[in-house]
Amino acid sequence: MLSIYRRLLVTATAVSSKRRRSSLWVLVFILGGLLFAGVPEARAAFVTTNETGLDGVYSQPSFGANTIDIRFMPTVTFSNGDLLNITTEAGIDALFAFNDGPASNIISMYFVDTLDFCSSFNASIVGCSTLGGNDIAVESVFAASGSGTELLAHEIGHSLNLDHVTGNNLMAAAINGFTTLTEAQVAIIFGNPLNPIIQTDAFGRFVEIRPVLVTPLPPAGIMFVSAIVVLAGAYRRKKSRA
Ligand SMILES: [Zn+2]
Repeated sequence: MLSIYRRLLVTATAVSSKRRRSSLWVLVFILGGLLFAGVPEARAAFVTTNETGLDGVYSQPSFGANTIDIRFMPTVTFSNGDLLNITTEAGIDALFAFNDGPASNIISMYFVDTLDFCSSFNASIVGCSTLGGNDIAVESVFAASGSGTELLAHEIGHSLNLDHVTGNNLMAAAINGFTTLTEAQVAIIFGNPLNPIIQTDAFGRFVEIRPVLVTPLPPAGIMFVSAIVVLAGAYRRKKSRA
């Protein structure tokens, strides 16, 4: 089992359960009116990739000519409302156990509402990943904030074998506004044997990440609920004519 590291932050991130409930009601109403019309699923979590910013971090001067291109694949969906808010070890284990099919050299980056457990419980956690592994979890709202690039770049750093350090560095244990990596850290990233997450093609070194969007309801559940709403509406219309 790989060590799990946590990420701390300085701002509040909790999304109230009341807000989640109301978005579910909105979902029911929209689908009830537009059943089977190809309406996108409503989602509590959402994906922000920050790809340009991440490319900047992994091509900073300490990389020399060995820059790493960060590439995002199309988002896949993981419908499991129980995992929108991670509060326990069982929760983070279940999230990271989701097998979306990528090879072991592709990072799965899970976007959730709240992440309060990594190696321990802490409401300030905004990201979690495995050292030298290929699973990363982040809070959607924080990933979309001004510190989102720093958060994602930090968690990718763990996937690339970097541990926490102190000081004005990307791998500090808390959000600090720095995305600096030293030449010594770059040497760890390119250590021998080469981390399988680092791939090479005609354009050079790259890392592939598959975003995984955690959604509140399984598609079958959504269809069932919306069908009930439509049937209820039809029944009411029928009754009023009688
Ligand atoms: Zn960390």
